[in-house]
Amino acid sequence: MLDGARVLVLNQTYEPIHVCNGRRAIRMVLLGKAVSIENDGLLVRSESFHFRLPAVIRLLRFVHIPRTGEIPFSKKNIWRRDNYTCQYCGLVGGHLTVDHVNPRSRGGLTTWENVVCSCRACNARKGDRLPHEAGMALMRSPRKPRFFHPEAMSPRLSDSVQLHWSKYLRPFESSPR
Ligand SMILES: [Zn+2]
Repeated sequence: MLDGARVLVLNQTYEPIHVCNGRRAIRMVLLGKAVSIENDGLLVRSESFHFRLPAVIRLLRFVHIPRTGEIPFSKKNIWRRDNYTCQYCGLVGGHLTVDHVNPRSRGGLTTWENVVCSCRACNARKGDRLPHEAGMALMRSPRKPRFFHPEAMSPRLSDSVQLHWSKYLRPFESSPR
């Protein structure tokens, strides 16, 4: 259970930097290197202690993390950024596609800012139109993500864990412009 649990690790500044398993997260808390700031309610017991399994921990000392380059632009990463959710109707999962907000036929670019996760139905309905022309609205305007761990947006995470994580991930989804 502990090895399967995913815990979001924040720097001292609350910036998300990593995802680790539950065992490692608890060790860091017990060693006084981190504090649990969100938990999923799951009780962890041993002979000497019992506490809630953290969903998010925060390091007590700032760790300098060199930026490891760009997050690759790909269909999969667009889906991850958009949490596998159609940005027009909110459908989660299903047959996902990517949609150019400003259609390619009208000069729309294939960039983080112009491509969103879309279900097949919305993609077909929108066609070669701009969202407002099709009477469709985006759930949020697409931005280039600054952080995500491949597991941070995994649909395998429980809803409650995603909820715990989302408030820490959201401010870091977009790059300052
Ligand atoms: Zn849709």
